[in-house]
Amino acid sequence: MANDREEMLMTWLRDAHAMEEQAEQMLSTTAERIEHYPSFKQKLEAHLRETQRQRDVIRACIERRGGDTSTIKDLAGKMMAMGQGLSGLFVADEVVKAAMASYTFEHFEIASYRSLIAAAEAVGDVETARVCREILVEEEAMAAWMAAELPTITSQYLQRLAMDVEAKH
Ligand code: MG
Ligand code: FE
Repeated sequence: MANDREEMLMTWLRDAHAMEEQAEQMLSTTAERIEHYPSFKQKLEAHLRETQRQRDVIRACIERRGGDTSTIKDLAGKMMAMGQGLSGLFVADEVVKAAMASYTFEHFEIASYRSLIAAAEAVGDVETARVCREILVEEEAMAAWMAAELPTITSQYLQRLAMDVEAKH
């Protein structure tokens, strides 16, 4: 019988898995739509590949701990609310909304992995803690890129608007 700490760790690993599936969906949808902001598009595509690997390693942590992965898809719905914010697609300032959403999502991921690392350490799961630290580095790098580029993306959007060329994505 798993103790409370172990059950919480499993719950949070499943949440992280659902979060990465949501990230995957949001990154691919956004990257596909971006046309006029090539560096943002490339960064989304690169982080999409990292995200797919993150999803796989989190799934491996769940399996290694004896968790059932068959119901994992059902949990993806949890992140839908946040997903809505990210699909501020189809609005006039779509690219700016997408950049803000990416920035926000990465910080949510950072919070999740910081918490998960502590939970893994609390039960002595060294491998899960190590994996989460590796993922955290990638999320922090993406968050830092977004922090630096959000103003640039915004001014490029405003420039395109002023030039009267297609600007929204
Ligand atoms: Mg991630
Ligand atoms: Fe991320």
